[in-house]
Amino acid sequence: MSSRTQAAPQVERLQAELEDLRRQLADVTARESRYRAIVDEQADSIFRTDAARRLKFANRAFADDVGRRVSELSGRGLDSLLGEAEYAELNAQISTLCADAPVTVHDAEHTMPDGSVRWVQWTHSAVCDARGVIEEVQSIGRDITGRRRAEDELQRTSRAMLAALNAQVQMAAELQAARARAEAASDAKGVFLANMSHEIRTPMNGIVGMTSLLVETELDDEQREYAETIRASAESLLALLNDILDFTKIEAGRLELESIDFELRRVVDEVVGAQAPVAFEKHLELTCLVHANVPDALCGDPGRLRQVLTNLLSNAIKFTSMGDVCVEVECVHAGAESSLLRFTVEDTGIGIPLDRIDRLFHVFSQVDASTTRRFGGTGLGLAICKRLVERLGGSIGVDSVPDRGSRFSFTLPLRRAEHAVELVPVSLSTLCGQTVLVIEPHELTRTAIAQRLLPYKVEICEASSGSQALAQVRDAAATRTFAVAIIALRLGDMSAEVLAAQLKNDPLSRDLPLVLLSGCGLRGDAAGASDAGFAAYLTKPVRTGLLAECLARVIGGGESTTSRSAILTRHQLTAGAAPTSERGRILLVEDNPVNQKVAARQLQRLGYDVEIASNGRLALDALDEQRYDMVLMDCQMPVMDGYQATSAIRARHDDLARIPIIALTANALHGDRDQCLAAGMDDYLAKPFQSAALAAIIERWLLIRGRFT
Ligand code: ADP
Repeated sequence: MSSRTQAAPQVERLQAELEDLRRQLADVTARESRYRAIVDEQADSIFRTDAARRLKFANRAFADDVGRRVSELSGRGLDSLLGEAEYAELNAQISTLCADAPVTVHDAEHTMPDGSVRWVQWTHSAVCDARGVIEEVQSIGRDITGRRRAEDELQRTSRAMLAALNAQVQMAAELQAARARAEAASDAKGVFLANMSHEIRTPMNGIVGMTSLLVETELDDEQREYAETIRASAESLLALLNDILDFTKIEAGRLELESIDFELRRVVDEVVGAQAPVAFEKHLELTCLVHANVPDALCGDPGRLRQVLTNLLSNAIKFTSMGDVCVEVECVHAGAESSLLRFTVEDTGIGIPLDRIDRLFHVFSQVDASTTRRFGGTGLGLAICKRLVERLGGSIGVDSVPDRGSRFSFTLPLRRAEHAVELVPVSLSTLCGQTVLVIEPHELTRTAIAQRLLPYKVEICEASSGSQALAQVRDAAATRTFAVAIIALRLGDMSAEVLAAQLKNDPLSRDLPLVLLSGCGLRGDAAGASDAGFAAYLTKPVRTGLLAECLARVIGGGESTTSRSAILTRHQLTAGAAPTSERGRILLVEDNPVNQKVAARQLQRLGYDVEIASNGRLALDALDEQRYDMVLMDCQMPVMDGYQATSAIRARHDDLARIPIIALTANALHGDRDQCLAAGMDDYLAKPFQSAALAAIIERWLLIRGRFT
């Protein structure tokens, strides 16, 4: 066999193997191009480099990233495709790879061919040979621009929030420091306010008190006019000072309210009584209608109530030249523990234009602010009233019609007093079931009297004129007997004196006791009334206590009551001062010589015996030697002040027969009253005070003392 024939099967086998290899190659190529297509389709950038950082493979995404075609990339160095800094960063990261740490991940910025910047997260993985030597590195880059932006945004926002928080913390610290500074300033202001108040009140007391005494002395007309002018000016200066001090206190948040038991009718009557002479001088009909269902024993701040009522009432009288002014108190809601009361002050005065009403309660606002205005004033009064009423839990408002009149009203919630005071004392139960004839042309005044007498279970018959009264007396004679008749000074058809004469001449009514109801007490009125056959006389507007006591005394023939008010009524009738021993002996403790004179003369004029001690120590000595009915105590004094003296008196003397001690002090700010009461004093009167206020407080405490001794 030839050698050619022997080689043929070998060739065939080799050809078959070659064919097989070709097929395998085609297979591998097809598979690789399939994988390549998959890799190319990836959104992530993928490449492989050798140890010299030359590309062995890169996909389309990476080619796009570096602005080349895929075919251009093979064998190129990475440094020629990336920016200098970018390459340096990538190279540094890849250089950290080793057999023990074959993977590294980092974020890097990449600048695209169009200049835009992307954030890429690179994952580099080392491919090592059997000895652990790195042969090539495979890198995958994922676009994380969106996430990085969101993270950056989040970081920016939290940085901004942190900055805002820091700013707030700093602001809070600054506010706290500012508050501490303001509190210190406010404390200093408070001390200044207290000192100023005291310093101003002391000389004002001298001026007001001395001029009040001066006008009571023998003066010729010119001197009297001068003295009256000084007194009026001093009083308006004092009112202005009080307004300014009050307003400053309210604005400084230093106004503290009291919560003490008081008798409502007494407070309202005192306010109305104090303004009555001015109303009377202007020939205004002043009525005070307190409805019978209004509770009397209440707890609250009577001083502030008095202040608001006084302001509204004095405005009403000031801005009314003819007609009526009426104060009305009604119960809007009565609860078991508290009641809501409405206080109304209505007048028939000049009224207020609609477009000015809104401004009324603003500070310094006056309806007529022109330089030619008829009425003076600061415009502070109503602003203070509004703030006070609101602080007391109520509200204030006004209705008004120009040239017709105004109606100011405010509500106040008031708690019932813990210790109820009897509205009808036992001594006045004699009034029960009696019939009283009220002859008064003014309907509101008749209603006011009827409402005042309702709690005493008195039957009221009303007559609006003299002739109507005569007819009623004649008609009534057959069926019932009137116990007493109250006759207004001026009746439409006749005078009170004429009516009294006719009643006295008629055998049917000869014995009917008559009480004159006059506008305002004037010197000589009492004597005149007595001559005309009246058993007593009362002044308008009537006060509950005085009215009832007067009627009880007249009906009971003067034996039914021994209260001080009744003595006062008798005092008015006889038009002379009661003997001093009957009124009481008072120890005045006061260091200022001017104020000593003022108070001593006022007390003497009121009919009291007065002795003066010029400091607390001397007061103690005087009390050891003598018996007094009351002590009027100044607070700031040399040697021993009023507080120390009071504590010493209370410690030494028997508590059952406790002598009333009343503070007379120029310290008129909040806390002063509490300090006085805490020291053992019973009451408090701020200087400067009017004679009437001094008289009222002394009467009240002598009466209270009388009940216990
Ligand atoms: P003033 O101290 O000036 O009286 P107020 O605050 O008490 O201050 O009153 C402010 C203004 O409101 C007054 O000046 C007056 O113009 C008006 N006013 C208050 N009450 C009445 C009233 N009853 N009738 C008419 N005008 C009134």
